[in-house]
Amino acid sequence: MLSFWFKIPLWQRVIAALVLGVITGLIWGPESETIKWIGDFFIKAIKMLVVPLIFFSLVAGVASLGDLRKLGSVGGRAMILFVITGQIAAWLGLALGTLFQPGKGVDTDALQKGEIPAPNETTAVEMILSIVPDSPVQVMADVRVLPLIVFALLIGIGILMAKEEGKPLAKIFDSGAIVMQKVTMIVMELTPFGVFALMAWVAGTLGPDALISLAQLVGLNYLGCLLIIGVMYSSMIKFIAKLPVIDFFRGIIDAIAVSYSTASSNATLPVTLRCVERNLGVSNSVASFVVSLGATINMNGTAMYLGLATLFGAQIFGVDLSMGDYVLIAITSTLGAIGAAGIPGAGLIMMALVFGSVGVPLETIAFVAGVDRIMDMMRTTTNVSGDAAIATTVAVMTGEIDVEEMISADDV
Ligand code: ASP
Repeated sequence: MLSFWFKIPLWQRVIAALVLGVITGLIWGPESETIKWIGDFFIKAIKMLVVPLIFFSLVAGVASLGDLRKLGSVGGRAMILFVITGQIAAWLGLALGTLFQPGKGVDTDALQKGEIPAPNETTAVEMILSIVPDSPVQVMADVRVLPLIVFALLIGIGILMAKEEGKPLAKIFDSGAIVMQKVTMIVMELTPFGVFALMAWVAGTLGPDALISLAQLVGLNYLGCLLIIGVMYSSMIKFIAKLPVIDFFRGIIDAIAVSYSTASSNATLPVTLRCVERNLGVSNSVASFVVSLGATINMNGTAMYLGLATLFGAQIFGVDLSMGDYVLIAITSTLGAIGAAGIPGAGLIMMALVFGSVGVPLETIAFVAGVDRIMDMMRTTTNVSGDAAIATTVAVMTGEIDVEEMISADDV
């Protein structure tokens, strides 16, 4: 029985769990909340890996680059792709919102009002300061990814500068990174159970009434995300990376399922890293750097949604927007997506920033809060697929990919 279970490739077990979870939730209804703890258990288990995995992999990755210039070219290319794709995504949200007018004719009285989350009041200066860790240990304890990346980068650079004398430490980090990959493999065996429980919970507890009245917004959110994945990322893989698109998506299928069910880029990070390295053949140095950075700052699904939701709010409340406002929304949406943490509901908090910039009432947030989870799941999948697509593209550009290793999903 057990050997039969393990004979089925993990991704097939995960997809089956996702479908079965939805069916179970629909049949079981709100009661399915009772098994949500299994999903929480799974999320805790993969979250536990985030800090040691980034730390070991990133230091080992930078040390193995052997050359600081290479680090600059990887980082520079990744940043350019993050910004360009973020802008395209935000404008796509604006285009969909203008074309389909999801807020027109919505009966706000029929909508249930959720809670407006406290807006993020961090100033730009505070944001810059928070990138530098005041204590690396504190940063690790709080699982703050961005300052941890900075610290790991510096250690890696230090190892490179120390040349011969840095080698013993590099070896330790190498070995640590390999051990962490094995631990990730163990924890990923929990994925089918976690995904099943989370999907059953979402499908069972989501209010159908709210979903129906906001169907257009939810539908456009899915359409926008699918366009980003199906057109933007696919083109990037096909035309810039020149790799087979199907193999790319088959390689990241575990990350897609985990991001969809957890709605958290951060929690999915260990899975994304494993997929990108093991199934797509991206080198540890590029994968650990680009994927970890991407999980916190590259959120194209969120950027698209922020643009779309702002137009939705403007249409509900009859706020007129000029072309200048559109430009402002595109900029603040991209900034909001960069600033949003890779956790469930982060995009909802960032709405306050974008709405505030063009005078859309914050009450809109209360209207969409009830169906945010189902939209968040798709945004997160888009965000995570983007990290993988950009890491792969940058790896091709810098010669840090072993295409032979891009194995078929049957072996995943
Ligand atoms: N949950 C998303 C993520 O982790 C962020 C968002 O809420 O848009 O990528």
